[in-house]
Amino acid sequence: MRSMQDDIAKILLHESTILARLDELAYQITQDYREKPLTVIGILNGSCLFLADLLRRIPIPLQIDCLSIASYHGGLESSGAVAFRQSELPNVAGRHVLLVDDILDTGVTLHVVCEKIGSLEPLSLRTCVLLKKDVPRKAEFDADYVGFAIPNEFVVGYGLDYQQHYRNLPFIGVLSEEAISNPSKV
Ligand code: 5GP
Ligand code: MG
Repeated sequence: MRSMQDDIAKILLHESTILARLDELAYQITQDYREKPLTVIGILNGSCLFLADLLRRIPIPLQIDCLSIASYHGGLESSGAVAFRQSELPNVAGRHVLLVDDILDTGVTLHVVCEKIGSLEPLSLRTCVLLKKDVPRKAEFDADYVGFAIPNEFVVGYGLDYQQHYRNLPFIGVLSEEAISNPSKV
């Protein structure tokens, strides 16, 4: 039987490489938010693994919240439409907010989410992404904390999906052409 691993044409970032970089990111975030009321907001579903591994490395008091956003709709290209799946937004009054997302691609998602969270008037608002694609952004946007810059290829694993699959791969890789047309699923 074909496994998820068989569908990966190339591994871009091994788990050990990702985790070593998370140590550095977490150290930086810890220094920047010491003694500050911090709320970390993860953008689901893509950031779930990144969020869990990152936050375990940040030894200061903080609150965790999540936003469920759909922007990709299962394809290989960003649709440009950003849908908020919940009616209630986190309460960020009197708190510094760090938004965490899996990948910065066109920038539309983080631009829209920042506008929305910014309108709730947190003390400050910054963004952290695991990956940043080397592409011209549709929305004027850059992230404050970036794990890795990657080439403009469609990647899966470590939270990132193709048609909701492959999120549980512990590394980040590029799908084979064959898997794109016929992904292994149950
Ligand atoms: P943006 O709005 O910046 O174009 O896209 C952000 C969202 O698109 C990400 O949160 C992610 O869900 C999805 N996305 C962008 N590039 C990739 C990719 O290479 N692989 C996967 N699986 N999702 C991606
Ligand atoms: Mg996402």
